[in-house]
Amino acid sequence: MPKPLDPETTRQLAARVNYYRELGIYDFYRRPVEKGAVAISAADRMPDEQSVDAPSGREQSAAKPALPVIEDKPAALKVIRDDIGDCTRCRLHQGRTKLVFGVGNVNAELMFVGEGPGADEDAQGEPFVGRAGQLLNNMIGAMGLKREDVYIANVVKCRPPGNRTPEKDECDTCSPFLMRQIDVIKPKVIVALGAVAAKNLLALNDSMANLRGRWYDFRVSKLLVTYHPAYLLRDPRQKKEAWKDLQMAMKYLGLKPPAKAPAE
Ligand code: URA
Repeated sequence: MPKPLDPETTRQLAARVNYYRELGIYDFYRRPVEKGAVAISAADRMPDEQSVDAPSGREQSAAKPALPVIEDKPAALKVIRDDIGDCTRCRLHQGRTKLVFGVGNVNAELMFVGEGPGADEDAQGEPFVGRAGQLLNNMIGAMGLKREDVYIANVVKCRPPGNRTPEKDECDTCSPFLMRQIDVIKPKVIVALGAVAAKNLLALNDSMANLRGRWYDFRVSKLLVTYHPAYLLRDPRQKKEAWKDLQMAMKYLGLKPPAKAPAE
């Protein structure tokens, strides 16, 4: 007979299950506790768990049974990828060549979130590899970073037909997986690229003009909104506005633009 859980652990588990329900995740399965698994740390808890005063030090290890958490970020991302599987949850799977999960540094301080894969991304299974991706790479470079330093993902993981805007039910079906990716990466800053990313992440329906230019608290991260690189390709005059947004992120992250090579 398994030992019944103590009331505090039961409460924390119930809070966590509710948290996943709010993200639209209803199916759970049990995984054996891995050797070396550690208890969830206060910093890793959900905001509504933070208020629970955990006893400190020795008292904590005596009173609190360890909750199994996967501290290994690549492993945690693999669990999310495996949960997505060969997804048929929404109609976007019908035109899919490759599902585009996300790419980059699992310890990134900066994460970019786009709308959804285009033709190049669908073919290669990687976000932002087409023309818009080239511009995003340049934007990342202008911030003094490389593409490999950041993490990049999209609201929807399959290409909408003809690159149309993903519909609400498609975003609602797919974005819980993005939220889980964000919860694993825990970037300091998330940059939402364009209105679809901004509106889905923030659950706000506002114009880009109103959404840009300010910080939002988003889970454990700070979030700001800027123009989508595909929009900047169509209207390059807005690049200087986007640069202002990126400079906000750079200031927060303590990044300096790379020194220009001296003119010959
Ligand atoms: N546009 C997006 O929003 N995401 C991509 O991955 C590519 C283009």
